This record gives sequence, C-alpha cells and structure tokens, in this order.
Amino acid sequence: MVPAILTDFDDTAAVQNVAEMLLHQFGDDTWQDVRERFRAGELTLKDYQEITFNNIRADQDTMRAFVQENASLRPRFTELWEFCQEINSPMAVVSLGLDFYIRALLEKEGAPDVPVYCVNTRFVADGINYYYHHAYPGQPERGNSKGLVVDRYRQLGYRVIYVGDGRSDFEAAERADTVFAHSFLAQECQRQQVPYRPFIDFGDVLETTKELLGLTGT
Ligand SMILES: [Mg+2]
Repeated sequence: MVPAILTDFDDTAAVQNVAEMLLHQFGDDTWQDVRERFRAGELTLKDYQEITFNNIRADQDTMRAFVQENASLRPRFTELWEFCQEINSPMAVVSLGLDFYIRALLEKEGAPDVPVYCVNTRFVADGINYYYHHAYPGQPERGNSKGLVVDRYRQLGYRVIYVGDGRSDFEAAERADTVFAHSFLAQECQRQQVPYRPFIDFGDVLETTKELLGLTGT
C-alpha cells in the first residue's frame, strides 16, 4: 500500500503555534478573554478563531511577513516532502487553522506546493471571510474535520500516516494506520489505547515511511 502522510500544522509541522503567535502580536485586547470562553467550552474553536482574527486590524501582508520572520517548520519537513515527491506518495498539511499563515511559512521554507486542507480566508474591508471546504456534509457549523480528510485518503486506498499534537487531531489519529503524536495527542492516544509513536522531528516520520516501503538499509 502506498503511504500518504498527513500532518497537523500548529505545533506539529510548525515548531510554534503560529495562530497564537499572531494573536499575541496583533490581537486586540479581547482575544485572551475569547480564548478563555473557548477553553471553558462556551465557544467552538471555529467561533474563537473567527472572532479573534476578525478583530485583528493588521493586514495580511504584515501578518505573513511576521510569520516568515518568526516561525519555522520542524526539522526535516522539507526533506520528507521531497522524498514523498520522489516516490510519488501524497503528503499534505491538515489544519483547522487559516490558509494565509500556513502558506506564508511553507513558502518561506521552500515547500510552497504542499497541499493544505485548512480554513480558506478572504480579507475584506471589515475583516475576514472564512470558508470551510472540509466539513462533514450538512454540518457546516462544526467547521472542518481532520477525520474527514483521513477517511478520504483511506478510501482512495492509501495507508495513512498521521502526525499531530492536539485535541482536534484525535479524530484523525483514531482513523489513521500509523500515528505520530506528542503533547496532548500522545496523552489522549495513551488514554484511549490508540497506538502511536513519539516524534521529535520529521526524520522519525521519514524513517518509518522508508520502513513501510521496505527501503531501510538502502
Ligand atoms: Mg497542532
């Protein structure tokens, strides 16, 4: 079976939580209160993100430049991407975050062509419009689903390797064939007995992909 590598973005493909970096730098003085309401379960992640980013007055170019100066991809991400290109194996970013900051970092790191499943945005006069193209049919209020993206790749016959760290990654991890996890996702996999491998950088994922393909020792 051909592997497909799907990776979360914030705190996974990116070393940092880029969304939070942007809110710390450019958010208005209500963003942390909105985050508290999200953490208390009063708001969905979708609402929290839409409200806080809509209140940012910086323009897209300013935020993109900030990301390119201050964020970085986890080591060996681009090496894994190039390997996947060589062997004609899909690799994609799967994130509940926003397209412009994900793209900004991929472009800076020389991997602009990596497919990204995320929230699409359009900057308009009074804020940002958000588009959810990866939501469960009939359930747009829930926003995008990472599990849906994993299901699609499995239906196409791929062996899905999923890499993640957070709460929203669990529904993807429990559907994937192989899971790399750290932080909250690792704890949750342990708690719910979903097998996973720890990872430090994408070299760990690269080695496993080669093992699956029978390429170790070459
Ligand atoms: Mg994450």
